Amino acid sequence: MATKKSVGSLTEADLKGKRVFVRVDLNVPLDDNFNITDDTRIRAAVPTIKYLIGYGAKVILASHLGRPKGVMPKFSLKPLVPRLSELLGVEVKMANDCIGEEVVKLVSELPAGGVLLLENVRFYKEEEKNDPDFAKKLASLADLYVNDAFGTAHRAHASTEGVAKYLKPSVAGFLTQKYLAEFDTNFNRFSILNLFNQYPTVIESLLEKVDLLLLGGGMIFTFYKAQGHAVGSSLVEEDKLDLATSLMEKAKAKGVSLLLPSDVVAADKFAADANSKVVPASGIPDGWMGLDIGPDSIKSFSEALDTTKTIIWNGPMGVFEFDKFAAGTEAIAKKLAELSGKGVTTIIGGGDSVAAVEKVGLAEKMSHISTGGGASLELLEGKQLPGVLALDDA
Ligand code: ADP
Ligand code: MG
Repeated sequence: MATKKSVGSLTEADLKGKRVFVRVDLNVPLDDNFNITDDTRIRAAVPTIKYLIGYGAKVILASHLGRPKGVMPKFSLKPLVPRLSELLGVEVKMANDCIGEEVVKLVSELPAGGVLLLENVRFYKEEEKNDPDFAKKLASLADLYVNDAFGTAHRAHASTEGVAKYLKPSVAGFLTQKYLAEFDTNFNRFSILNLFNQYPTVIESLLEKVDLLLLGGGMIFTFYKAQGHAVGSSLVEEDKLDLATSLMEKAKAKGVSLLLPSDVVAADKFAADANSKVVPASGIPDGWMGLDIGPDSIKSFSEALDTTKTIIWNGPMGVFEFDKFAAGTEAIAKKLAELSGKGVTTIIGGGDSVAAVEKVGLAEKMSHISTGGGASLELLEGKQLPGVLALDDA
């Protein structure tokens, strides 16, 4: 992908008093009381915003949150305002909409160095349809465009792609730029841990590029069942059994070593207080379900990882939300942190994997925490990202 113009190339002369439409990815998890349970994405958006306000720009922030169908209050971005204000050190103003008269007025009142957060762009179905009129309305709020929402750069939506047509310059934010640089340099041959179930096609295309594929987590039982082993009441995706078989065959044909855990920690129910025992992964007793990888698997996975230079980790090894079944995930997190210290590039992608690594306090040790799982995977596959293509070349 061609090198894109970066926000860092814009100077005070470009920015002072200018209205900048910044697409960020503030799609953070919220609990039932609208408390932010993981603010990684908010923190990741800060450097670009601070740079812009530091040069006296008027910053207009746009993001999606979740997958609302129309205007749904539970997907409002309002609960993010206090944390965002705290991290930026300025009082962030909130709009009730992302287009329309009220928004136009709020933008006109914005001082140099001020920040306005627009309401969820996905309250409009036009956002995901990349509707040109909607994109024009968004663009009309601003003079220039910054895309720092790497996590949605693989989607051609109005706020990620459409607006770029109407605003000049259109540049990459620091987060987007950092990801593009890393994915450009690091990926010739690498090893993958546990690509999640949602991305079977990604696994298939990555078989062209990887040396080693380690599988843990909930997807392994589909692979065991496909091989005719007893899986008890473990999670199985019946409609993916054939796919699992074909992936195993393709891996073999391409000389990729595909490792499955040899033992698992099985539970008698899906609960934090379940009884548990370590059993061979190929023979789970009736009524028991595998909820974590076992000690032998941790050892063999760790040894396999010792041979690698670049590791991508997507998806926990077990149900790490229950302490009893978190050991596999924690051990692999520690192994990756240790390898990072020895110069191995470690990339953590995916919501739950990032949460797992943060839970054990090892996030800082990893080379790269990707808040944009889907976009990273598409880049690895060699696809072009529409949200990046739309930006000006450097
Ligand atoms: P990520 O969000 O990092 O991409 P996924 O969403 O693909 O990861 O998978 C994480 C979820 O899978 C977690 O909620 C975890 O509890 C669950 N999980 C992991 N192992 C198992 C298992 N053996 N059985 C059922 N669920 C599992
Ligand atoms: Mg997940």
